[in-house]
Amino acid sequence: MNRPAPLEIVVAGGGTAGWMAAAVLSRFVGEAASITLVESDAIGTVGVGEATIPQIHNLIIGLGIDQAEFMRATNASFKLGIEFAGWLKPGESYIHSFGYVGRGVGLIPFRQLWLRGRSLGVAGDYGEYSYNVAAARAGRFAKGANGPNQPELAYAYHFDATLLAKLLRGYAEERGVVRVEGMIEQVERDPASGNINALKLNGDRHVAGQLFIDCTGFRSLLLGDTLGVPFEDWTHWLPCDTAVAVPSDGGGQFRPYTQSLARPAGWQWRIPLQHRTGNGHVFCSQFMSVDEASTLLLANLEGEALADPRPIRFTTGHRREFWSHNCVALGLAAGFMEPLESTSIHLVQSALDRLLKLLPNDLTDLSTARAMFNRLSNGEWARIRDFLILHYVANAREGEPFWDHCRAIEIPETLAEKMALFAESGLLVREEDELFLDDSWGQVMIGQGLEPRNYSPLADNVPGEDIGPFLASLAKSTKTRAQAIPTHRDFINQMLGCAGEVTQ
Ligand code: FAD
Repeated sequence: MNRPAPLEIVVAGGGTAGWMAAAVLSRFVGEAASITLVESDAIGTVGVGEATIPQIHNLIIGLGIDQAEFMRATNASFKLGIEFAGWLKPGESYIHSFGYVGRGVGLIPFRQLWLRGRSLGVAGDYGEYSYNVAAARAGRFAKGANGPNQPELAYAYHFDATLLAKLLRGYAEERGVVRVEGMIEQVERDPASGNINALKLNGDRHVAGQLFIDCTGFRSLLLGDTLGVPFEDWTHWLPCDTAVAVPSDGGGQFRPYTQSLARPAGWQWRIPLQHRTGNGHVFCSQFMSVDEASTLLLANLEGEALADPRPIRFTTGHRREFWSHNCVALGLAAGFMEPLESTSIHLVQSALDRLLKLLPNDLTDLSTARAMFNRLSNGEWARIRDFLILHYVANAREGEPFWDHCRAIEIPETLAEKMALFAESGLLVREEDELFLDDSWGQVMIGQGLEPRNYSPLADNVPGEDIGPFLASLAKSTKTRAQAIPTHRDFINQMLGCAGEVTQ
């Protein structure tokens, strides 16, 4: 029953994905494996990827990293959600916040009570009922509930991607991961099984293994190049294909949320960190050049640019299989969806979680584990894809060629079904293990101007005259609670014991 010798795992690539894999595997497979990570200093990493979603806590807690230590090491700030400004039309903005909006009554979702309130003319803006939105708008943050039976803020982080990789590298190396610096020049395969046997590095070095984790970024050297797993291109659904990124010093507000500002051919992100702001402009090259996109980005920074804008080209989509033969791809080597909802690092994390759950003791037949891994991964990616498409198709920016193009996109059936149910009476149902919950879908659908024709009959169970006072008291208490907590800056200063250091 026991393994005769430690499992030899080779991680190819040392960006965020590679070091996350090395850290997680060294923590959880531990003594049962020997782990080698190969990376090339000459190639470097993509160096972006600074906004996350709350599931990141599972990684940090799972690795046993102290929160303050994590924030100090990565210059992190807190994130309560994402502001989408101008996505419906210029001048309009909403926040897709983490956590719940409002409070349902029994099994009647809050969204339905709000829709009924709207039909009665007594409902305010949907965001008024979200503690996360109220705190974000007020620039405030706190952990824990500020009263009995009160909700807590749901949060994630913004962090410096390079510092994160450094932190994870230190963690993994302390737990025995061996780092080999070198250029992978060839990948050797077993002629009979097609499995990967070893990586051939410059200087005639070989790194042999039994299980290979491809984290070589967009190159996808192992899964794509070597094993020939085709790429499924989703550009027809998500047409943006380029980003320009530039850090700036911390002018502007120190917001506890990401900003996503709609632009004529895409959108701009602002991600506040303790020491600087991360900025980028994601756009569709059919509608705008890199020079135009860079100029627009530089004109809309809140502080001084700290470098020249760096273009990054990408194709949205993923490898048809995420695990082929004895190789699992993570991160950009597996595929990419634009950072609109900060899902890429999460996809690395959830793939690692899935791999740990499916890692067999006997590697001679991986076919069942592999099939399940691929089925679940495909489902997860498709649901996130649908959520991203929703932001683009439901826009009212008429007369702008890129946005007109987006409105005309023929959407996947799965999204069409979801939108049709919502259009009927605001119905939302979470499918399988999909990442985004009903509250996320609801906030974006409402924020993007989708108007349900009716509300669910469930909402008629609350007497009509109670709806207005219920909504009014909820909005008031939400706002009052948000005003009573510290500013984002004060909270971080206090937490890290560095009063005065965060000056934005
Ligand atoms: P990389 O960082 O490219 O690392 C690849 C590694 O492979 C490097 O170490 C390189 O040296 C090595 N390598 C490659 N070829 C060889 C070779 N021949 N020999 C040896 N080594 C080799 N994600 C989020 O979650 N939130 C965000 O806000 C976010 N924003 C993004 C914005 C943009 C514009 C882009 C493009 C991505 C963003 N992402 C974001 C995604 C995130 O950056 C990536 O998921 C994450 O950084 C993982 O990258 P990676 O490790 O797969 O690849």
